[in-house]
Parts: sequence; C-alpha cells; structure tokens
Amino acid sequence: MPIAPWWRCCGRCPRRRAEGNASGESTSAKLRALIEIGQTLLIQPVCPLCRHTLHDAGLGLCPACRDNLQLSSTGCRGLHPLPWWALGNYDGALRCCLLKLKRTHCERVLNALLNNLKPLLPETDGEGLVPIPSWKRRRGNLLPLQMAAGLGDVQRDLLQRSQAGIGQHHLNRRQRLINLKGAFQSPPSNQPQKLWLVDDILTTGATALAAQTALTKAGHHVRGLICLARTPNPRPRR
Ligand SMILES: [Zn+2]
Repeated sequence: MPIAPWWRCCGRCPRRRAEGNASGESTSAKLRALIEIGQTLLIQPVCPLCRHTLHDAGLGLCPACRDNLQLSSTGCRGLHPLPWWALGNYDGALRCCLLKLKRTHCERVLNALLNNLKPLLPETDGEGLVPIPSWKRRRGNLLPLQMAAGLGDVQRDLLQRSQAGIGQHHLNRRQRLINLKGAFQSPPSNQPQKLWLVDDILTTGATALAAQTALTKAGHHVRGLICLARTPNPRPRR
C-alpha cells in the first residue's frame, strides 16, 4: 500500500500498516492536527462561575469571582470546638454558591473551590479524610464525600450514622449536642490512624465533635475538620 511521501517505514516498526492513502495524504494525521488546533482554540480554560477566560487556570476561578466570594489568600481557620480550616464565611455570594452546589453537584465548581481550599490546608499526606455522613437516608448531602474524594485519601467506611436524628437547622448549640449524642459509630480498629473530618459547612461544631468522639473511641486520632465555609457568629440581638 502506498504511504505518504514524508513517512518512511524502517521495515522493522511493529506498525506494518501505513497510515497514508493512495493520493499521498493522511486523513488520520490531518484529523489529529485539526483536533489539536480546535482544542487550542475552543477549549480555553474558563471560570466555571462566570465563564470568562482564565489567564491563570491554577486556582480555577477568575479574580472577579474570587473577590465576589470574598476568598482570601489565608482563608478562615480556628481552634474551637476543634481545629478547623475553611475557604471563607458562609455568607453572601459564597453561601449562595454552596447552596446551588448542593443542588447541582457541579463538578467543575466544586473542583475550583477545592483548588482554592488546598493551599490553605496543613499537610495531610497519607492521612485519611473522613466525610461526615448525612443524617438523611435518602437524598442526603453528598458534598462531604465529594470533597474528601477531591482532596485525597477518602475513608468513607470509618464513620457511620448510628441513628437518623432530627434536622439540626433549627436547634441551638446545646440542643444540637444533645441531638447528636451517640449519633455516630466507628468500628474498633487495631490500626489507629491520623484522620481529618470533612464537611461542607461548620456551624456550631456539634456534628464534628460527635464524629470525633466516635472515631476517638475506635482508636483513631482526629487532627481537625476541613470544610468549605464557616457560619459567621450570630449578630447579637438587640
Ligand atoms: Zn469568574
């Protein structure tokens, strides 16, 4: 079979069948070149929130959207009720973005947020990430699991809900602690691990404390909580 004039077969190459055609053209080579040009021209990295072209795709969000979400280079962190790290406050545009993300589960938006969260976190190499399981049996919150999977070594079997409990939204901190007592269980382990809890929102920390208690009872060490946002302290009532 004739081959394109610019390709010379060495005679020993394993690909015996030449890619050229009788007219000396190579359809597959031209097609590949066209696809590469199309990818360069059409698949520019864009911000998943505003669709503007990204000149620096590293963080996955454009500067305007980072400003709108009030993401800082240091993020938020604290020590109570356990060490925690977050992208920002659960307020304004970030709150709207996370509420929408819970409905849409848009992978590109979540990945962009995780890209902004990763540089804020301490070293977690080789340490397991335990997503907080949802209290709902059906249509529960999948964000913690998706976050843990996007951040590293997800350990989803180490922590289970032992009772359904009731929704936490309208409970104060004391009520939440009572509601969550014994809410989690973790199988006893002969191989203690250093672990991180992962949740989308940190509110009072009652859920994280209950999860930490169960994992500690099972023999593990919980280093802290990684979340996307922290609810700001409630404003004092007049
Ligand atoms: Zn943007």
